[in-house]
Amino acid sequence: MKDIPNLFGSMVFNDYAMKARLPKDTYKALKKTIEQGSHLELEVANVVANAMKDWAVEKGATHFTHWFQPMTGITAEKHDSFISPSGEGKIIMEFAGKELVRGEPDASSFPSGGLRATFEARGYTVWDITSYAFIKDGTLCIPTAFCSYSGEALDKKTPLLRSMQAINTQALRILRLFGNTSAKQVITTVGPEQEYFLIDKEMYLKRPDLIYCGRTLFGARPPKGQELDDHYFGAIKPRVSAFMKDLDEELWKLGILAKTKHNEVAPAQHELAPVFSTVNIATDHNQLTMEVMKSVANRHGLACLLHEKPFAGVNGSGKHDNWSISTDTGANLLEPGETPFENAQFLLFLVAVLKAVDDYQDLIRLSVVGAGNDHRLGANEAPPAIVSMFLGDELTEILEALESGADYHNREKHQMEIGVTALPHFPKDTTDRNRTSPFAFTGNKFEFRMLGSSLSISGPNFTLNTIVAEALGVFADQLEKSDDFKRDLGALIKKTIKEHKRIVFNGNNYSGEWVKEAEKRGLSNLKTTVDALPVFISPKVVELFTKHHVLTETEIRSRYEIFLESYCKTIHIEALTMIDMVKKEIMPASVKYQNDLVRLLERKKAWVDLSTAMEKHLLSKLSALSEALLGKLEKLEDSMLEAKTNGDHLAAAEFYRNTIFNEMSELRLVADELETTVGKEYWGLPTYAEILYSVN
Ligand code: ADP
Ligand code: MG
Repeated sequence: MKDIPNLFGSMVFNDYAMKARLPKDTYKALKKTIEQGSHLELEVANVVANAMKDWAVEKGATHFTHWFQPMTGITAEKHDSFISPSGEGKIIMEFAGKELVRGEPDASSFPSGGLRATFEARGYTVWDITSYAFIKDGTLCIPTAFCSYSGEALDKKTPLLRSMQAINTQALRILRLFGNTSAKQVITTVGPEQEYFLIDKEMYLKRPDLIYCGRTLFGARPPKGQELDDHYFGAIKPRVSAFMKDLDEELWKLGILAKTKHNEVAPAQHELAPVFSTVNIATDHNQLTMEVMKSVANRHGLACLLHEKPFAGVNGSGKHDNWSISTDTGANLLEPGETPFENAQFLLFLVAVLKAVDDYQDLIRLSVVGAGNDHRLGANEAPPAIVSMFLGDELTEILEALESGADYHNREKHQMEIGVTALPHFPKDTTDRNRTSPFAFTGNKFEFRMLGSSLSISGPNFTLNTIVAEALGVFADQLEKSDDFKRDLGALIKKTIKEHKRIVFNGNNYSGEWVKEAEKRGLSNLKTTVDALPVFISPKVVELFTKHHVLTETEIRSRYEIFLESYCKTIHIEALTMIDMVKKEIMPASVKYQNDLVRLLERKKAWVDLSTAMEKHLLSKLSALSEALLGKLEKLEDSMLEAKTNGDHLAAAEFYRNTIFNEMSELRLVADELETTVGKEYWGLPTYAEILYSVN
């Protein structure tokens, strides 16, 4: 039996390690910096760095790196060793305070959306002191933010940290109005549920589409998919179980609170959920989790697929982002309380989210864009691209009663007055029944369900933080001026419900009727990434992010370009991979099979007097399909010559979406039909059935 409590966090320079290894004064100074975000003196940094290095070296580390999250969506690191020459051909292990707090990676090849051309060729990294350093593969990793020399954010972490500040400021204003003087800080807490596929590595290596694109671009449907629902929560197979066990341990060592694991809907699909933590830690941990999943899988002869849609015809993978707001004293502000007073505060935070989600539906949609996620949203396996909010029947009825001043009836009659009467008890567990809602209240948190599995959770969360900060700010502006708090609070809550209740929808989000109903309600439906991206540079969004100091207009424009460019490149690579696979794998398989059939047919004719109907039938089918395949291939190749990856990025993205993507789908259709016709031994690519049932 492993000693899990001792294993947990053993590779993290956490509070426990700091306390044990730092001189008392240094520890205190560091804690103060962490808690108050104050400046870290260089002398303190030097002591911390040295203690960190000693700790890391004892654990076998030889290198350190500033670990950061550039706009590629994955993490980046550049390793430097601790060694420093000490004369006589010897070395000592050294790590200075300035190396800890600031680094200068030569990072000019990361996407910057033109920022670097206008500003500075290089960027620098700064320690995010609120996220603990950790050891991964013999390297001490320092979590950092990545900026340009003029201070422009070049990464996913900087805006997230800024948004935490924004919601903290506005939420504290509200808490003070309710007489709360003890809370020093308001944070958002996040628990991301990570879905993934696990397949055999041998299969993976035989599929260029999985290697280059992370998803299959061809593949006929297997005889059995997910229709029996027999994989969901089913018994975990031994190889998968060994992987999960190993994964848990690796994550625990890194201080990641891996908690729940189970099989998901599609064959070979699984999920891992951690215990929630502060949003920037949750973001770091989710990036690490994805990385560790891949490396542990590799060790087990498996490949872990994090793409949103690795296989057509079975569910893709998402990432539910459970989000709540809490004080540093541990009070969850989205938890309905027991007393009228607590209820009134809960209701104000609840309607702030209601207002935020309604006012910024387009921005919420934007926060989950990506070529991969376009395959899922609205495809009956994930919420549609229409943003709405699920509150459950009971809470919705309570809000309706509040708005109209009518009584609320559940078991008994409730007359409700904000701040005077307590909220009637409503069963919380009913809130989780609707799995089709993009944004569901689940008792004491919201579950944002539109995220794709590979997405960094930074974007969706800095969006939520900022739009809710904005709503809270608007409320605080009004209530701070009030001379009758209770009266004006009641009126504000009622007014907000009335103005924004159109965003509440408790029904089936997958249904066609909802699409029509949503249109009637004036809700937007930005179906694809290309439809949603222009929202980013709309005046309303620019105003929001600049007002709360989360992103400058320049940063927004650069990000907009990065997203468009990355979309184009993704489809571009997929199209090239398809063309290559058709020419190198699929056409030759068809030719070889036809060749054998022709030879058989000739021999039959020459030597025996038997019917050749079967050969003829097959040959004519194969011949027709091959010809169609060639036609689709040439069409796609021609279009690829027209596609541009430079110049007007929006026009290019539209071309990739409307022309290239559609022609890829047409090409696939014919190839998949061929797959069902060509003999197994001729078809070099592993089939869906072989891949999806490859792990036992
Ligand atoms: P499920 O959605 O599968 O029913 P739960 O709702 O219990 O499971 O939890 C899902 C995720 O929500 C977990 O990662 C959990 O830590 C997280 N979670 C629970 N409470 C909060 C909270 N207050 N803030 C953020 N995340 C939370
Ligand atoms: Mg959930």
